[in-house]
Amino acid sequence: MIRLSQMKLPRRTRAGAKPLALPSPVEARDFSRRLRAWYRRHARDLPWRRTRDAYHILVSELMLQQTQVSRVLDFYARFLARFPDLGSLAAAREQQVLAQWRGLGYYARARNLHKLARRVVREEAPRYGGVLPQAPEALRALPGVGAYTAGAVASFAFEQRAALVDTNVARVLQRFFAPHLHPKRARDLTTLWSIAEAVLPRTGRASWTHNQALMELGALVCTARVRHCGRCPLRGECQSATND
Ligand code: SF4
Repeated sequence: MIRLSQMKLPRRTRAGAKPLALPSPVEARDFSRRLRAWYRRHARDLPWRRTRDAYHILVSELMLQQTQVSRVLDFYARFLARFPDLGSLAAAREQQVLAQWRGLGYYARARNLHKLARRVVREEAPRYGGVLPQAPEALRALPGVGAYTAGAVASFAFEQRAALVDTNVARVLQRFFAPHLHPKRARDLTTLWSIAEAVLPRTGRASWTHNQALMELGALVCTARVRHCGRCPLRGECQSATND
């Protein structure tokens, strides 16, 4: 059984509670190795996993917010056929962008993506040179890009050693390391980000697989509705494992 090390987080997880221990480097390595081995055998073949084009990855990440993968696949292909790069998106009118997004919902995502393209390609071209920045902090300065999306683009497009926490990742980390946390509570989510950073492998390439694997496990095995612990690579060490 993995024992969490006594390395302490700099803050208490809740008033009066003991500080939560972060995983030690040995525990983190074991956790990540199991995940990545599982991913290599079970990952779905998705188009945005076959590319390192930062714009294509950004489009996929924005479309996947609040939306099922199966639903995004067609929209992703059609959108990129119409707007294959940041330049073509920046040159379009907002109505044209919204028309291409029609049916996917949450239209603020499309408006922000369009604003982002215009900023990078036109309004602040000297600053960005027409391309997306690589660092998560710089990505976060762009319209519609939050902490998760910045981490995803930095990791999946640029192979940066960047952590990311979406609802799937938060659920897996919470169940495995800290069942008492509530991912919807802001301070607990901050703790889960600290755990996500602590378990990242050392290289950007390994972090790419690790991050994809965490998200995939949350989508296929450790889901919000049901935990398939019997086919989970983390079962032996997980604090929330069931006997199914
Ligand atoms: S063992 Fe079960 S609860 Fe733990 S991470 Fe795997 S599926 Fe989730």
